[in-house]
Amino acid sequence: MPDKTETSEALVVGGGPAALTAAVALAQAGIGTVLAGRRPPRADNRTTALLAGSIAALETLGVWELCAGNAAPLITMRLVDDTGRLWRAPEVKFEAHEIDLDAFGYNIENPVLIDALEARARALPNLRTIDDEVIAVEPGEDDVTVTLRSGARLSAPLAVGADGRNSMCRAAAHIETSEHKYHQVALTVCLKHTRPHRDTSTEFHTTTGPFTLVPLPGNRSSLVWVLRPHEAEELHALSDDELALEIERAAHSILGKMTLEPGRALFPLSTKTAARFGAQRISLVGEAAHVIPPIGAQGLNLGLRDAVTIAEMAGRARDAGRDIGADDVLIAYDRARRGDVASRGLVIDIANRTLLSDFLPLQGLRGLGLYALDKIGPLRRAVMREGVAPRAKRPLRNSLI
Ligand SMILES: Cc1cc2nc3c(=O)[nH]c(=O)nc-3n(C[C@H](O)[C@H](O)[C@H](O)COP(=O)(O)OP(=O)(O)OC[C@H]3O[C@@H](n4cnc5c(N)ncnc54)[C@H](O)[C@@H]3O)c2cc1C
Repeated sequence: MPDKTETSEALVVGGGPAALTAAVALAQAGIGTVLAGRRPPRADNRTTALLAGSIAALETLGVWELCAGNAAPLITMRLVDDTGRLWRAPEVKFEAHEIDLDAFGYNIENPVLIDALEARARALPNLRTIDDEVIAVEPGEDDVTVTLRSGARLSAPLAVGADGRNSMCRAAAHIETSEHKYHQVALTVCLKHTRPHRDTSTEFHTTTGPFTLVPLPGNRSSLVWVLRPHEAEELHALSDDELALEIERAAHSILGKMTLEPGRALFPLSTKTAARFGAQRISLVGEAAHVIPPIGAQGLNLGLRDAVTIAEMAGRARDAGRDIGADDVLIAYDRARRGDVASRGLVIDIANRTLLSDFLPLQGLRGLGLYALDKIGPLRRAVMREGVAPRAKRPLRNSLI
């Protein structure tokens, strides 16, 4: 029987934002790409705070112009100590203009971002998307072959595994992970409110974790409320009116009366990091490579940097007439991404643990750190710059990142 395997230069597995970004970036780098993925099974009610570096990448990819009108700028960021503890940190306020930006980034609903990425993907002639489940991934000497539920088979010298935290691609490449589960759950919901947010994101630091309100267009915001698991479940079970009242209380009514929008959800907090971000012609991007808690809005921003980095590296290898899925490309990709991912994960872990700690000297240190951030201008600006785009990954001319 003749082999019906369809070949391309690159394959992307996954249907989320990291997969779509990788596919668009590869195609835009001139690489004939096939994306095979399933959309997430349930509607994603989350929003993503896309920081300045991600906006620059999405602009270069022709995606940002398709969704910018539905995103809200993040111009001011407030950190408020709401622990009620003896050692309380001062309120810290960061303004985008302090580092010569109009906005630190933009907050966008995940379905709006996915729609824009899909529209851009449809417009690229060298990108084919297949809405199907991948049921097998087989790395080989010269290429990777995937089998779809329909029975179709696809192969390419480079596969990008952007198939989420339980990645089949990662398992096929025999890449181990390290994992940690926190005793915390994030409750997410979008809401309308009677007072304007004035483009300000406010993070209340509580003894269970951050309670963060992030602006959406109009008098709307998204909430990520990190709680102990039983508290999250109790709140999740309340009626809309009851939960709205609890949220208004926790927000000290800064946005007035709240009305919930449909689609609240719970997300247990954990970290998961792949031992390598690529092996056996398979590179990992997004949550297939690293899961971090939703604190400080870094997860997908890292995923987008992964996606454009592998596309750039593959594009350069192809232009030089080299094998785009070879070990040297995957090793260089791993090196390029590991520091960024590890440093963000560490900062988030320390910020979270010092908030939860009952150890008085640690609370004092946290307060001192925030005091220094409030008072020392150069330190403030360095932290703000590092927060929106790491030094190693500032946008370069003619570069995606
Ligand atoms: C509460 C919360 C708030 C967050 N807020 C922010 C924020 O403000 N800023 C930020 O940067 N990040 C944020 N994040 C992180 C961000 O949501 C994730 O980093 C992002 O969703 C990961 O995208 P992904 O494409 O890697 O994975 P996913 O979105 O999980 O996508 C994986 C995709 O692969 C598909 N798939 C899986 N297996 C297969 C298969 N075998 N065949 C075909 N398809 C398959 C799935 O259907 C899915 O579509 C937040 C996370 C949480 C939990």
